[in-house]
Amino acid sequence: MFHALVHYHEIALKGLNRGFFEQRLVHHLRSALKDQKGIQVDALPGRIRIDFPQESFWTRIRETLSRSFGVTNFSLARSVSIDYTSPDLNALKEAIHRDIPLNSFQTFRVLTKRAEKRFPKTSMDIDREVGAYLCEQTEKGVNLSKPDLTIYIELLKREAYYAFNKEPGPGGLPVGTGGKVLCLMSGGIDSPVAAYRMIKRGCKVVFVHFHGRPYLSRASEEKVKELVNLLTHYQLASKLYRVPFGDIQKQIVLGAPAPIRVVLYRRMMMRIATDLAAREDAWGLVTGDSLGQVASQTPGNIQVVSESTSLPILRPLIGMDKIEITQQAESIGSFDISIEPDQDCCSLFVPPHPNTRSRLPDIQHAELKLDVQGMVKQGIEQIESDEFVFPR
Ligand code: ATP
Ligand code: MG
Repeated sequence: MFHALVHYHEIALKGLNRGFFEQRLVHHLRSALKDQKGIQVDALPGRIRIDFPQESFWTRIRETLSRSFGVTNFSLARSVSIDYTSPDLNALKEAIHRDIPLNSFQTFRVLTKRAEKRFPKTSMDIDREVGAYLCEQTEKGVNLSKPDLTIYIELLKREAYYAFNKEPGPGGLPVGTGGKVLCLMSGGIDSPVAAYRMIKRGCKVVFVHFHGRPYLSRASEEKVKELVNLLTHYQLASKLYRVPFGDIQKQIVLGAPAPIRVVLYRRMMMRIATDLAAREDAWGLVTGDSLGQVASQTPGNIQVVSESTSLPILRPLIGMDKIEITQQAESIGSFDISIEPDQDCCSLFVPPHPNTRSRLPDIQHAELKLDVQGMVKQGIEQIESDEFVFPR
């Protein structure tokens, strides 16, 4: 039997939250691996163990762990049972010697953690004893500060685990521990990165996209579907709402001065999103805004847009540069999808000189002439939705 030992960060786990946190992570890993027969996921004290019958499962498990938020690090481990009535390290030492990748290192060190303190020797005693044995058997040297290979030993209630590697996980918090939020997804570079960052902080993200049909093609919708599909690899199930926005924009164009259109569009998006969030029981709205990037993201316009909803608007990219956002988009794989050409509804009816410093009283005055409630109702009534799951 092979094992993956999964570690999470202690700080997130203080006090009463610990059980909830562990349970969410175990649940996530079980769902992420449910298509793999013969794999078992269990919570042990302070870590999670995944058992699997063949080493060939490792590629998939590794891929899964590197995408599972809440995981700090993980290793491919094997185990031997420990008899605490006559505890000795012989079986462990021999097993390590049998499995050690002899050709891959010159120097090594042993690093032991005891979750089970009944064992009479301290962690350091075990490091020394196993280290001395391996030196003798392999003729390799010990180097405590910069070894080629670290041998990790973890002593638990009935067995000892050993591993020759430890890989970093993605960090963050398990999906679901941060409640549900609704992300406004445009198909651009920024909003998928914003969604990713909220999933990483433990949120379950639901998506809404406003499209320009019937005036524009389906291209932006297809792109957003691709992006949501990609992000579903991190949260395993997603829902995307698609709202026709072309007619609503047209009403705004006909009823309000050109320079403030962009802000009015955004406020309408926020109102429709707020309605959807209530149905979904989402506690916040997420956007890909980055301060000063475009006209709708100036300090003044951000304030005026924020006034259109009672929900918190989460803007995880607000302090990031475009270059930083782009790098993140590349590393999660959304960049290539985002730069595919489309027809975003924001490009529809955009005035040549949008106001970058709109004032709330002016905006409210302009909205008096529009059927705001009617537009929200219209948007909600014409909604279409899609569900995404991973693994399929
Ligand atoms: P992005 O790269 O995410 O499109 P952007 O730099 O193009 O961002 P804007 O077009 O001003 O900036 O959009 C700011 C934010 O408003 C987006 O990140 C997104 O959250 C939301 N948004 C804009 N257009 C749409 C849309 N058509 N559907 C849903 N949300 C949108
Ligand atoms: Mg955009």
